[in-house]
Amino acid sequence: MKSKAMVVVEPGKMEMKEFEVETPLKGQILLKLTTTSVCASDPKILWGHTPYVAFPVIMGHELVGQVAEIDQEASDHYHLKRGDRITVEPMIPCGHCQWCRTEFYYHKCRPMRVYGLTLTADQPPFLFGGYSEFMYLLPGSLVHQVAEGVPDKAASLSSVIGNGVRWVKTLGQMTFGQSLVISGVGSQGLATLIVARECGVGPIAILGLSRDDARFKLAKEFGVDFTINIEKEDPLKVVPEILGGFPDVVVETSGVPSAIQTALNLVKPIGRVVTIGLSGGKETPIQFDLLVAKGVTLLADHAQAGNVKDAMRIINSRKYAIEKINNVTYPLEELPKALEETAHPPDGFIKGAVVFD
Ligand SMILES: [Zn+2]
Ligand SMILES: [Zn+2]
Repeated sequence: MKSKAMVVVEPGKMEMKEFEVETPLKGQILLKLTTTSVCASDPKILWGHTPYVAFPVIMGHELVGQVAEIDQEASDHYHLKRGDRITVEPMIPCGHCQWCRTEFYYHKCRPMRVYGLTLTADQPPFLFGGYSEFMYLLPGSLVHQVAEGVPDKAASLSSVIGNGVRWVKTLGQMTFGQSLVISGVGSQGLATLIVARECGVGPIAILGLSRDDARFKLAKEFGVDFTINIEKEDPLKVVPEILGGFPDVVVETSGVPSAIQTALNLVKPIGRVVTIGLSGGKETPIQFDLLVAKGVTLLADHAQAGNVKDAMRIINSRKYAIEKINNVTYPLEELPKALEETAHPPDGFIKGAVVFD
C-alpha cells in the first residue's frame, strides 16, 4: 500500500510524494486521514517563519481519521480497534518531565514534538502530518474518540475548540453570567464563542471588520448576542451601551497591536484580558499606566494542553454546527491553493479543510 503526501522539502517548496505504508511498529497507530483543517500557522510553517519547524515536513496538525492498523500494545493502551474514528492532539508530550506532570502545561515539554511541525519526513516511517493519505501516531500521542454522526469537518477542529476552552475556562476563568468581548471573528474567535456559550457566559459581543460578513453570520448562528463592525462603530462607545457596562473579560485573537490596546481600554477594572494572537514579531505598544490603574490581569498563551478533552465533549455533543467553520474544502492536490486562501482569505472564506475520499 502507498500513501500520497504533500511534503515541504524546503521553505516555500512543496512537492507531492509517495511513500510505502508499512505495518505500524510497537505502540503505533496507522491512521487513514479523512479531514485535515488548514491552520493559519500552516502558511507560516511553509515559509519557515515559525520557530521549531524542521524540514522536510508534512504539515497538517488539525486532523481526524480512521484507525487503519493498530499495534496490539497501542490497542490495549487506547482501547481502540481498526475502524475507530479518532482525532489527535498536535503535541506528543514526553510524559516524564516537570511540564508533562502538569495537567495544563505539557506544551512546554522540550524538545517539542509536534505533528506537522517538528517531526520530519526524512526518517521512517516518514508520515507524521495531516496532509497525507495515511500517517503514523507515535506512542505517547494523545488521541480522542469521535462519536458517531459527528462530521469530520467538526472533529478536525478538536485543537481549535480546545483553544477556545483554554481562553475561556483555563485563562479567562469565566463562569455563568459573566460578560465577554471577543476581538476577532476568525476560527479562534468562533471557538471562543462556542465555549463561552457552553459555559453560560453572557452577554457576548464579537468584534470584526467589514470583510467578516460570513463570519459574523456564523457567529450569530452560534448564539453571539452582538456583532460589532469596528470599521463602522467604535467599540469603546458601543460595548458599554449594549452590554450594560464594560466586560469582565476580553479575549483578543487578532494579534493586531492596536487591538491589544483596545482590549485593555475595554475591559472593566480588575478584569482579565486574554491575548493569543501573534503579531509576527512586531512590537506592541500599550499604555502600561492604564493596566496598573485598572488592575487588569493580562494573560498570554498558545496551544491547548489539557483542554481537548472538554473540546471533544462539546464537539461530540453536536449542540453546535462546528463543521460550518470549515466552509471551504480542497482535495490534497490543491493544498497550495488552500494555503494561499488561508493567508489571503477571499470573500466569504471562514476556514479551509483538506478532505480525503
Ligand atoms: Zn493549528
Ligand atoms: Zn515532557
